[in-house]
Amino acid sequence: MIRVAIANQKGGVGKTTTAINIATAMAATGWKVLLIDLDPQGNASTGIGIAANERDRSSYDLLVDQASVVDCLQPTRIPNLDIIPATVDLSGAEIELVSVENRTDRLRDALSGASGHDICFIDCPPSLGLLTLNALCAADTLLVPLQCEFFALEGLSQLLQTVERVQQRFNPDLGIVGIALTMFDRRNRLTDQVADDVRSCLGGLVFESVIPRNVRLSEAPSHGLPALVYDHSCAGSRAYMALARELITRLPEKRKAA
Ligand code: ADP
Ligand code: MG
Repeated sequence: MIRVAIANQKGGVGKTTTAINIATAMAATGWKVLLIDLDPQGNASTGIGIAANERDRSSYDLLVDQASVVDCLQPTRIPNLDIIPATVDLSGAEIELVSVENRTDRLRDALSGASGHDICFIDCPPSLGLLTLNALCAADTLLVPLQCEFFALEGLSQLLQTVERVQQRFNPDLGIVGIALTMFDRRNRLTDQVADDVRSCLGGLVFESVIPRNVRLSEAPSHGLPALVYDHSCAGSRAYMALARELITRLPEKRKAA
C-alpha cells in the first residue's frame, strides 16, 4: 500500500478537500483506497458522509489503543473507498502519547501489517504536532496543498524544514510527491503572482493541475458527499480528476502493483 500524507500546518488551505476528492477520484478509477482522518475536527469523516454517531472505531483507537486497521475502518458510500474516521478523542492523543515510547511510530506500525488497499491518504490536522509527525513517519510521500496567498511561501519553508528533520531522524525515505495549488482565483492578481513565485522557487515539485476556487467544492461537504459525487462536472471536480491523474504518474512505479 502506498501511503500519502496530506499536510500543511496552516488551516483552511484545502487539505481535507484535497484528501476527500483525490481519494474519491482514485477510487473511481479502480484503486482500492483508504482515507485516514487524522484531524480531531473530523472534517474528512463528516465530508464523506460518516456522521459523528457512526464513528464506532476511529484513528484514536488506531494510535492510542493500537487497534488494527481492519478493526477501525468502515466503508463509505463510494465504491472502493474506506475510511478510518476521526473523533474528538483524537485531540487528547497528543498528550496521551507524550510519555509513550515509539510515539512517532504508532501510525507506521499500524499500517505496516495492513493489506487490502492500494493506497492510503492521511488527512493531517493544521499543526506540526505529534499527529502530523505520525503521518510523516508513516508516509512514503507527502502531498502539500498550498493556498496562493501572501504568506504561503513562509509557511511552506517551515513545513519543508520539518520534512527534512523527519527524513534525518525517522523516515529517510519520505519524499514529496508534489505541491498542489488550491483555491486559485484567476481574477486575483496576487494569487497569480504567488503561483508564479511558488513555481519559480520549487519548479517541478508543483503540480501542473491547479485547483480553482469553486463554490461547489465548498458546498459538497455539507451534503456528506465528495464534490466528485455531488457535482462531477463542476470545475473543482474536473481539477481534482486531473490532479489525481497527475498524481498517479508521479507515484513510485514499483508500488503501483502492491
Ligand atoms: P484544511 O483541511 O486545510 O483546513 P479545507 O479543505 O477544510 O482546508 O478547506 C477550508 C475551507 O475552504 C472549507 O470550507 C472548504 O470547503 C473550502 N474550500 C477548500 N477548497 C476550496 C476551493 N478550491 N474552492 C472553494 N472553497 C474551498
Ligand atoms: Mg482539514
